[in-house]
Amino acid sequence: MSSMMFAGKVAMVTGGGSGIGRAVCRILAREGARVVAADVNSGAAQETVDMLVNPSNHLAVSMDVAEKVSVSSAIKASVEKFSAPPSLVANAAGITRDNFLLQMDEKSFMDVLDVNVKGSFLVTQLVAGTLVEHGLNEGAIVNLSSIVGKTGNIGQCNYAASKAAVKGLTKTAARELAKMGIRVNCVLPGFTKTPMTATVPDKVIETMLKLIPLHRMADPEEIAEVVAFLLSDKSSYMTGTCIEVTGGLSM
Ligand code: NAP
Repeated sequence: MSSMMFAGKVAMVTGGGSGIGRAVCRILAREGARVVAADVNSGAAQETVDMLVNPSNHLAVSMDVAEKVSVSSAIKASVEKFSAPPSLVANAAGITRDNFLLQMDEKSFMDVLDVNVKGSFLVTQLVAGTLVEHGLNEGAIVNLSSIVGKTGNIGQCNYAASKAAVKGLTKTAARELAKMGIRVNCVLPGFTKTPMTATVPDKVIETMLKLIPLHRMADPEEIAEVVAFLLSDKSSYMTGTCIEVTGGLSM
């Protein structure tokens, strides 16, 4: 028997083309999962799959998490490839559209809610529904919230609201899906080195680092390892939890 944590499992990672999602794909593949890297940027999803050992064991799919039809067809593609729906899901797709509250336009506010909240909802609903249809009484879903969803952040009223909503979604889904054998948890990363934070001005980074007890940003792998733990049987008695991974920022 394989000692790999995810041997034989099918795992879908949204936002799998970049940053934390890509790091999650690498860990899941290393531990034996057949990975579906799903991203609105299908070229980036393919790049992720090409980085994995035996790319043909995995699948890159184009998916806009904010569009039900797109989520549904990506799930269908993974069922076709692996003859089974994904029983592990990491919802890592996310966007920012920062501005001060007084200047925030309605579209920027709603675009962030569409991808970060509605996207996590649609993927959770459609994957859970597919697992039930296939008679599988098992699954684990991890949503990427953010520490900003707990603390708020200047310039991010849309993003902070979306990430607080992801916590509420996680806890409700955990309560409703427990009877179907599906656990749902979330991770609240702090300041992590990915393309999402690449445009943050040096001055802001310096100020942030002073506030973080570990005095550095996280590498995406440091967030992804916690996501993998929550997807694994090592967390079999955990559901509805939100784990902060912030270098001590939020103590
Ligand atoms: P990232 O590097 O920007 O990766 C996010 C990926 O999601 C990108 O490939 C992006 O594609 C994709 N995406 C955007 N909209 C999508 C959609 N509608 N459907 C499917 N995919 C879509 O970001 P990250 O830093 O890895 O963040 C991953 C998650 O962690 C996000 O939910 C983020 O909010 C959360 N998080 C990040 C940090 C941080 O400091 N980095 C902190 C706390 C929480 P495009 O590049 O084409 O947009």
